[in-house]
Amino acid sequence: MSVQNLTPGLSGGIPVKAPKALIGLTLDELASLTQAMGEPRFRAEQLHHWLYVKCVQDWEAMSNLSKTFREKLSGQYRVGQLRLITKQKSNDGTVKYLFGLDDGSVVESVLMYFEDRDKYSICISSQVGCAVDCGFCATGKLGFKRHLTVGEIVEQYLFVQHDSQEEVRNIVFMGQGEPLLNYDPLMKAIRILNRSAEVGIRHITVSTSGIVPRIMDLANEQLQLTLAISLHAADNATREKIMPLNKKWPLEQLMPSLFHYVRTTNRRLTIEYVLLAGVNDSESQARQLGNLLKGLKCNVNLIPYNPIGDDYGYQRPSREVIHRFANIVSDSGKKVTIRVERGVDIAAACGQLANQAGKT
Ligand code: SF4
Repeated sequence: MSVQNLTPGLSGGIPVKAPKALIGLTLDELASLTQAMGEPRFRAEQLHHWLYVKCVQDWEAMSNLSKTFREKLSGQYRVGQLRLITKQKSNDGTVKYLFGLDDGSVVESVLMYFEDRDKYSICISSQVGCAVDCGFCATGKLGFKRHLTVGEIVEQYLFVQHDSQEEVRNIVFMGQGEPLLNYDPLMKAIRILNRSAEVGIRHITVSTSGIVPRIMDLANEQLQLTLAISLHAADNATREKIMPLNKKWPLEQLMPSLFHYVRTTNRRLTIEYVLLAGVNDSESQARQLGNLLKGLKCNVNLIPYNPIGDDYGYQRPSREVIHRFANIVSDSGKKVTIRVERGVDIAAACGQLANQAGKT
């Protein structure tokens, strides 16, 4: 993918209004655009294919579009809008991409390979920074800056797919930001990724900290995507300490929304639980978790904490504690996995994304 076409938001200190990007438009929107330029609908279909299936950013490569049409298009539009700043590769093969946006913000995406899946996965960001402020998360420490646009979300996938030359067929919204707080752009981005970029809907996972009204909305979308809930504690007092948003949507509200989601979609949830030594990793808390999840169609994914510096005050539990916790939850009848972390050495693992170019 060429980065030369990507116009930065500033030029010599003078703000420049960049042309509108095409990535982020649906087929119908592209058809309206090409129609306004006096072109038939099949031109929009060709353009759509180049953008979302071929992941091409170079006008010249769109070989079945006439030269005149390409010139007209490139005079008014640009293909994408992300500018690659850095790309870091971990010892385990994970790759972290840092992208620059038009307003000078930066955002990260992570490409991962898991042996138990035969395709690559990408972890995508939905916001610049995050307002939720989970106590263990580097993104939360950045605070909220802004929502990403549909195009900025979709292009993370297209860029990495093209750049890596790998088959990236799993998308997880677990990067920076709370996806359900950027609901409408997220929904449109998911539909484009599914219908236009042809990523199977069951291979798309949205991870939320528990935005109850939006979980109810998502249930009504009737999408067969995977919903992951960052639970992290089975009682309100502990959860509030780790996740301040629990004050707004405590477990008494969150749990019924999860049961409603499963009833409506018949999908199995993933319950994410970051294990913090001495905070939420005791045997009684494991039993409490098993009780809380009784009757809920879900798997449990335990995430041993990744230390992200000295400031946050959390530690990773010992292997023994992690496995004892997993066994107790498993005895309650749930399938439990312990996440194999990727990219810890390049700060690309869960909770480590903090827009730090070049730091490891
Ligand atoms: S864990 Fe997710 S929701 Fe919580 S602060 Fe980090 S990015 Fe936001």
